[in-house]
Parts: sequence; structure tokens; C-alpha cells
Amino acid sequence: MLNRISQAIRGAALSDFIGAFGMAMVYMVRPKATVIYPYERGPQSPRFRGEHALRRYPSGEERCIACKLCEAICPAQAITIEAEPREDGSRRTTRYDIDMVKCIYCGLCQEACPVDAIVEGPNIEFAVETREELYYDKERLLDNGDRWEREIAKNLELDAPYR
Ligand code: SF4
Ligand code: SF4
Repeated sequence: MLNRISQAIRGAALSDFIGAFGMAMVYMVRPKATVIYPYERGPQSPRFRGEHALRRYPSGEERCIACKLCEAICPAQAITIEAEPREDGSRRTTRYDIDMVKCIYCGLCQEACPVDAIVEGPNIEFAVETREELYYDKERLLDNGDRWEREIAKNLELDAPYR
């Protein structure tokens, strides 16, 4: 009886070993699933919601018309806007702040914007050391827009058929 049990255990161990060995061989020849970040990066969806940016038109004029829809829809109440009319009658923001600590990256500000001014761009590398650095003002957001405009425009174009 004991003999039969020990034979069964040996048989099971051998079949486990063969299974594990086979799996190791398969994974040895498969393409790697990992990447060596930051030297390598995985693919990113055009819908990726990263760091916020305020965009300009090619003329350099700000897109934002201070309608405040983004401020109203933001569920985290992270956006603060102040605005006044310019001399030419157009309306522009005098203050556009986002508290990135409050932001939950839901993308609703981008969805609500009628002129594609506020967007969540592709940048994921904006870690900082202090809370204060996560209070973004209009200048910072416009700088982000200038820096990432090419990628943002391409992503919006790719996503357009699905919107
Ligand atoms: S992504 Fe969402 S939470 Fe963040 S600012 Fe936009 S609307 Fe608010
Ligand atoms: S970013 Fe867009 S939604 Fe927000 S105030 Fe400007 S135009 Fe309106």
C-alpha cells in the first residue's frame, strides 16, 4: 500500500516537473512582456488621460473662451476660472487654475470643452516633490499645451471618428 502511494507521488512530481519545464521553454522563446522603462515604453492609447494642457490656435491665440463649462462639470471641483472681456469684446480667462491634487483624471473637462482647449495630454512624467508644485496656473497649462501640441493634435485626430 505504502509502495503504491510513494509511486503515485513520484509520478505526480514527474508530471509537474515536465509541465513546468515545458512552460519555461515556451516563455523562453516568446517575445518579452516587460519593457525597460524609461528607455522603452509600452504603447499608449490616443485616449490616454495624462497631464492637463491648455491649447492655442496656430496663430498663437488661446483657444479657451472662458465659458466655464469645464469648471462646472469637474466633479472634484479642481478647476478655478476667472474671466473678463478684452478690449476687442472677446472673452478670455484672467485666471485658470487646476489643483492637480484634487483631480481624478476623469476627462470630463476635456469632454465638456466646446473648443478643445483644455485637454489631458500624453505626458505621464510630472511627479513633483511638493504639493505646491501641483497647483497648476494658466501659464503652466499653456506651456504644457505648447510643448505637447503635436502629440495632442494627433491623438484628437485619431480619436475623432469615435467621438
Ligand atoms: S480630469 Fe476630471 S477631475 Fe480632473 S480637472 Fe478634469 S474634470 Fe476635473
Ligand atoms: S477650457 Fe474649454 S470648457 Fe473650459 S472655460 Fe475654456 S473654453 Fe470653456
